Amino acid sequence: MSGSVCSCSTVCTLKGVQRRSYAAFKSSILSLRRNGRQSTATRASSDPDTKTLETMRKFSEQYARRTGTYFCVDKSVTAVVIKGLAEHKDELGAPLCPCRHYDDKQLEAEQGFWNCPCVPMRERKECHCMLFLTEDNSFRGEDTTISLEEVVEATKGMSGVQP
Ligand code: SF4
Repeated sequence: MSGSVCSCSTVCTLKGVQRRSYAAFKSSILSLRRNGRQSTATRASSDPDTKTLETMRKFSEQYARRTGTYFCVDKSVTAVVIKGLAEHKDELGAPLCPCRHYDDKQLEAEQGFWNCPCVPMRERKECHCMLFLTEDNSFRGEDTTISLEEVVEATKGMSGVQP
């Protein structure tokens, strides 16, 4: 945990746009998705197992309901994070937060601080990935559901994890 530095383009960009208009927010998302597709064009083999993707999808729905939090109004944000969690679960054996850069991912997964739900989420309902949004967050949607098809469709050809 100590060696990790948040260099996350996705979340930090998203957090940065929280004070801007929805149009700017949406534009940022579309840009991130394009970048994700370009930078991961050769990483199709890192796609998570469908069973793992479904496990993380169900976990996300259940955890949001249990904590009284909501998914983002733009479900593509939710989909990318779920895919990233599934990729890490397949790769590392634990759903390490996909929105951070780590010097040693395996070590971080073993330490557990950033395994989802991470300590900041469990203690203070702080999800910097915008997977779980509190009621007062202006970018929260109205529900806590997302289908497997939505996740697959929104993340086609892109990775959900930071390089
Ligand atoms: Fe990442 Fe924590 Fe949010 Fe899970 S709860 S997606 S680990 S920030």
